[in-house]
Amino acid sequence: MAVPSRHILLCILLSLAPLFAVQVRAAQVVFITAEARADSQWPTIDALCDFYGLTCDARSPSQEPNSPDADLRGTLAVIVRASALSPPAGQVDARVLWERIRGSRAQVLVLSDAPLLLSLPDAAIPVNFIAVSKGLSSWQITQGNRQVTRELTGVSRTVRKGASPTAIVLDAGGRSELAPLMSVQSTDDVWHPSYVEFRDAERSIFFAAISHLSRESLDISASGDESGFIDLAPILTFLRFAGGQYCWHRDSDYANLTIDDPWLVEPYGCLSYRRLLAEMQKARFHTTIAFVPWNYDRSDETVVAIFRDHPEFYSICIHGNNHDHWEFYKYSTTPADPWPAKPLAVQEINIRQGLARMEEFSRLTGLGFDPVMVFPQHVAPAETFGVLKRYNFLATANLTNVPLDLEPPGDLVSHLRAFTARYANFASVARHLPAGRSRAQIALDLFLDNPVLFFEHHTLFREGIGAFNKTAEMVNSLQPAVQWDGLGTIAQHLYLERDRPDGDCDVRMFCRSIDLVNDREREQTCFIEKEETSDVPIRRVLVNGAAHPYAISQGRLRLSVAVEPHRPRRIEIQYEDRFQASQVDISKNDRRINRLRALSDFRDRTVYRHKSLRWMVDSYYATGLYRLGLMKTAILFGVFAVALAAGGWKLARRTRRAAFRRRTSALSVKQE
Ligand SMILES: [Zn+2]
Repeated sequence: MAVPSRHILLCILLSLAPLFAVQVRAAQVVFITAEARADSQWPTIDALCDFYGLTCDARSPSQEPNSPDADLRGTLAVIVRASALSPPAGQVDARVLWERIRGSRAQVLVLSDAPLLLSLPDAAIPVNFIAVSKGLSSWQITQGNRQVTRELTGVSRTVRKGASPTAIVLDAGGRSELAPLMSVQSTDDVWHPSYVEFRDAERSIFFAAISHLSRESLDISASGDESGFIDLAPILTFLRFAGGQYCWHRDSDYANLTIDDPWLVEPYGCLSYRRLLAEMQKARFHTTIAFVPWNYDRSDETVVAIFRDHPEFYSICIHGNNHDHWEFYKYSTTPADPWPAKPLAVQEINIRQGLARMEEFSRLTGLGFDPVMVFPQHVAPAETFGVLKRYNFLATANLTNVPLDLEPPGDLVSHLRAFTARYANFASVARHLPAGRSRAQIALDLFLDNPVLFFEHHTLFREGIGAFNKTAEMVNSLQPAVQWDGLGTIAQHLYLERDRPDGDCDVRMFCRSIDLVNDREREQTCFIEKEETSDVPIRRVLVNGAAHPYAISQGRLRLSVAVEPHRPRRIEIQYEDRFQASQVDISKNDRRINRLRALSDFRDRTVYRHKSLRWMVDSYYATGLYRLGLMKTAILFGVFAVALAAGGWKLARRTRRAAFRRRTSALSVKQE
C-alpha cells in the first residue's frame, strides 16, 4: 500500500514525542545506596526495571536534598539500602533522607544483605536484619497481600540441598503490623520472615532480606532449582506492585496443552479424542494437536466432527512436514552430528509442502489450522524463523525460544520472558513438559504474564486419559481467570502494554498479528511498536481489515491506533508472500518417508497399546538407539534375538542333560 508521506511523518512524531517527554521526567524507580551505580544490586534492579519498562536511576544518599536529582516527585518506587538509612555517626542525616523518601508518593522497599538493626527515624518500626547460622530448607510466599504477590501467593518450594542462597532474614519480633509476604525455613525447622510489609495508615513500607542476586539465582524459569525465588521474589513483586499499569504487562493470562504427532483417528495410541474431550470439559483446558502435514489425507470423520463441534477445546497447528526425524536440523553438519544436514533450501521446501498439505487438509475436513509451527524433535536454526515469517506464520512454539544455532542471551532477565521477537523479528515461545514444571515455575509464568504452554505426546495418557487434569487444575487454581486456547489465539495475544503518563498506552507487539483490547472505560490511543529489520518486504498493515499508515525506523515498525473501550482491534502486518498452495506437489512419493511414517504408526497405534510391548519402544528412545537409524537398530535387535535364542537353547540343553543325569543316578541307587 502507498502510504501518504505526511501520515508517516505524523506517525513518527506521535511515536517519538512521548519518548522525549519520558526522558525529562524523574526516574520512575530510584535506588538509593552509598555506592550508587557501583552497588552490587544495581545491575539486577536496573535489568528488572528495564524488563518492566520502568525508567530507573541509582543515587547516593549524600546528594543534596535540594538538588534536582534528589527530587522524588513523579517517582513510583524507591528501593533503599537499609545501610543508607543507618549510616555511621557523622555522615549524612538519615532522618532528612527518610523524610524525603516518605514525603514522596513513592512505594518504598528497604533491603539489606547484611545483618543490621534499623531504627527508622519515625521510630515506629525497628527492624532487625539478622543472620541465621543454619542453612535454608524451604521457602513460602504467604497469603499476606495478594495485590503484591499476585499469582505467586501461597507458592512454596524446598531449597536444593547445599544451595543455601541466603542466610539473612528478618526478625519481626512478632509485631502484627509487620505482615510477612515471604518466609524461609531453616534446617532446624524454624520459619523466619524474609520479606515483610509494614502496614502504615498512609502507605506501606516493604522490607526484604536478600543475598547477592546472580545470573544463576535469577534463572529460575528454566533451571529447575527455584532457590533464586528467595532473592528474586521481593524485588520482582515490589516493582510490579509499585509500577502498576506503568509496567509492561498483559491483562489476560493464557494456557495450552499441545500433543505432538497424532493424526485424526480414534484412538491414536493412548489418546482417545472422545474421552479427552470429556476430561477437558471437566478440568477446563484446551488441547492443540501439533499435526504432521504428511497425514493430511487420512482423517477419521468421527474425530473431525469432534474438532468441528468443539473449537473451544480442540485446535490444530503445524508440526513440520514429514516428521523426518529432526526435520529442521542444522544447515551443515560435522561427522560428530547424529543427524544429516538439512540445508535451508530443503527446510523451505518442507515448510512450503507442509503449508500446502495443511491447506488440503482444511479442504478435505473443513477444519481450520493455526499457522504456528512446532518443529519436530527440537527447534530450528535462526534463518528458518525468517522463512516462517516470510510465509506469514504467526509464531513458533518449542522447548526453547532460542534458535538451534544461537546461544541464549547473556543478560540477567531475558529468560524471564517466555516469548521473544528477537530472532528474525518472528514470535518464538517456549513450551514445557508438564512433568518438568513445578507449581512455583507455573505461578511465575502467570505472574510474568507469560503464556503457560505445555506439550507432550499421546504417551502422556498411558496411565489414563485424565493424566493432565491435575496440571490444568493447578493452573486454574493459581489464576482462575486463565484462558485456555489454541496456539493461534495465544500467538495473537503476544503483546505487552503499559500506560503512559499522558493517559494513553504503549504496546509492544511480538506476533505479526494481534488482537488488542482496551479494558478502560474511555478511548485510548495506543502507540504500537514491533521489532522489524525489514528483511521481508511488508505488503501492508491492517487495522480491523483496513490499510493503516505506519513507519519503520531504527529497526522498529511503529503505528498509532485509537482503540475504543472493550472493542477489540486486530492489528495485522502482512508480508509479501507469493505462495500458492496449488502449485506445490503434496503427493507422498518418498518411500523412505512413507516407511518411516508407517513404522511410527505401528509404534504408536499397535505396540503402545500393549503394555507388555511398551518397554521395547521406551528403551529404544531411552537408550538412544533411535540415533542408529531403523536399519542398524533392526540388525542390532536381530543379533540380540539370535544371541538370546542361542543362549536359551544352550541353557535348555544343559537343563535336560542335568535332569537326565539325576534320573539315571536315582535309578542306579534304586537298583542297589
Ligand atoms: Zn513430533
